Amino acid sequence: AIVTRFAPSPTGYLHVGGARTALFNWLYARGRGGKFLLRIEDTDRARSTPEATAAILQGLEWLGLDWDDEPLSQFARRDRHAQVARQMLEAGAAYRCYSTPEEIAAWREAHPREPFKSPWRDATDHPDAPHALRLKAPRSGETVIQDAVQGEVRVANDQLDDMVLLRSDGTPTYMLAVVVDDHDMGVTHVIRGDDHLTNTARQIQIYDAMGWPRPVFAHIPLIHGEDGKKLSKRHGAVGLHEFAALGYPAAAMRNYLARLGWSHGDDELFDDAQAREWFDLSGIGRAPARLDFKKLEHVSSHHIAAMDDAALVAALQDYLSATGAPPLSETQTQRLIPALPALKAKARTLPQLLEQARFALIQRPVEMDRKAAGQLDTVSRGMLESLTAAVQHASWTRDELEQAAKKVAEEYGVGLGKLAGPLRAALAGRSATPSVFDMMTALGREESLARLRDQTE
Ligand code: GLU
Repeated sequence: AIVTRFAPSPTGYLHVGGARTALFNWLYARGRGGKFLLRIEDTDRARSTPEATAAILQGLEWLGLDWDDEPLSQFARRDRHAQVARQMLEAGAAYRCYSTPEEIAAWREAHPREPFKSPWRDATDHPDAPHALRLKAPRSGETVIQDAVQGEVRVANDQLDDMVLLRSDGTPTYMLAVVVDDHDMGVTHVIRGDDHLTNTARQIQIYDAMGWPRPVFAHIPLIHGEDGKKLSKRHGAVGLHEFAALGYPAAAMRNYLARLGWSHGDDELFDDAQAREWFDLSGIGRAPARLDFKKLEHVSSHHIAAMDDAALVAALQDYLSATGAPPLSETQTQRLIPALPALKAKARTLPQLLEQARFALIQRPVEMDRKAAGQLDTVSRGMLESLTAAVQHASWTRDELEQAAKKVAEEYGVGLGKLAGPLRAALAGRSATPSVFDMMTALGREESLARLRDQTE
């Protein structure tokens, strides 16, 4: 069975790059009935915080990536890592190295461009002194990585030193911890950023020393900004929470991030089921993907338009919560839902939709902006009064409302537009809104008439 994992270091929020790595692992596992596991790489005690772990889990939850089992703490497994190092020592695959940092520095000075060679590698005496455990790595030949994305990568073994497994204070190194954890978790596919490619040769040496089967490695190119440079704060949003607060729905982010570095023919827009079915390591490209906000907006508008009412309301609530705004109330939701079909066809982001939906979310008395207030002179108030009388008992359909409004405009000898302005003002307090008849049907008879009466009585 397939097992993938996401292994973030909890030193900050979840970055889009990390989110994309998590998504690829999730898609790969979920598309194949496999498991997707989480491991929190919290061995850097100075930089790891519980707040960062919480923020990362929250980011994954927002993105809709569910994981199997409890997240594992790497730090909590340090005894197990040390145990494996001692096992390697006993098997002769590791040795005690008594070289002090000063001795190592001096050696390096004498041998520039050469990896450190410990004099203790083949020593038979073991002084009672502090020592590290080092891997007795192969000195000749090559370590060959078969990477599912990068292809074959060869590293000459004489370029690698005997890596430290356990430091002299007894703490395991990162390289050892990752391999032991991936092995113990049964990870079959390691999909991660290509900034880890150089670690992979070393990690493979540990797998080989333990006689453990190697997982499949897939190193994905990092994400770049629109200018082709490595993504950073300069490019705008980089934290997943920032994208949530900009109002891109999670479903759109999944689609967009899936396409960031992976492709399935020319398919740009797809849902989760298609992504799970299509996602494969062979579709991951070798060139860095560029974050493109125009494309993201395009994907976002597609997903907003495709969502049903319940999904869209949930996405709006998620957005409001991401910005720290209060959630939509029951009444607001009820008025909003009938307006959604017209609104969702036009919005590229959730705040754009909310801006157009403002009429459904406000309360009486409707607060007017200056332009709207300017629409409400004596004549137009008269027209609104006539309209109120005319639609009083109308069945509240768009057609019938439109017919009634046309008739009133005719009576006043003006075009429908002359009536729509004040009507818009009375209903929404703004001059840029959805169609007046869409607003009236969404608000319903009682609320619409009450807003009209507020301006005429
Ligand atoms: N903790 C590493 C990182 O956040 C990931 C290591 C891995 O995936 O093997 O970059």
